[in-house]
Amino acid sequence: MIIVLFGKPGAGKGTQAPLLAKSLELPTLATGDVLRNAKRAGTKLGLEAKGFMDRGELVPDSVILGIIGEELAQPQYARGVILDGAVHTVPQAEGLQRVLETHGRKVDAVLALDIDNEEIVRRLSERTVCENCQTPYTGRPVGSICDKCGGKLVRRKDDDPEAIRTRLRVYDQETAPVLDWYKGHGDKVAVIDAVGLIDDVTARALSALGA
Ligand code: AMP
Repeated sequence: MIIVLFGKPGAGKGTQAPLLAKSLELPTLATGDVLRNAKRAGTKLGLEAKGFMDRGELVPDSVILGIIGEELAQPQYARGVILDGAVHTVPQAEGLQRVLETHGRKVDAVLALDIDNEEIVRRLSERTVCENCQTPYTGRPVGSICDKCGGKLVRRKDDDPEAIRTRLRVYDQETAPVLDWYKGHGDKVAVIDAVGLIDDVTARALSALGA
């Protein structure tokens, strides 16, 4: 099963993806994590992406489609995948479809996490992430220890107020139209309320996916 997880920055994609992955027994692929790891390792990809990411802008479609093509050819995604933030623009949705078609596959469901901007700004201004495994936390101070791996919690560079504003503007202009693109192509699009307890949101998501 190939699921596109969709939503504004801070909607909870990075929180829900591993929980859904556990229930559905699928791996996740988060382009943001791939890019942050590359940035940290100082690879060519990381250097190319750094400026865009730090300003809260989108990394060019060609770079993202390169990552998707390369990753989805790996055997661990043969049974399916939860794509977290991998489709931010219509050209990326088209490119993903082309990549999947070459393997005789298609997107099975698009799961959109719905949330308003006020809640986003509140969440992102309180967000820290593990510098090692990138697990996100809300309301845990910088320097706390990650429950999952013992890594140190840090602020993301693109969670400062200026970058948050840019990311929300970019979402409205470039990412929101992707949902209509999927609807127009007859794909199953489930929109769920992303506000509430983490487990409640997961339960809503699983029910929307018919799992
Ligand atoms: P995320 O972890 O999904 O919030 O992504 C963090 C940043 O990585 C974004 O603000 C973009 O700069 C970049 N990024 C991640 N995924 C994509 C994508 N599919 N298209 C363009 N840029 C992306």
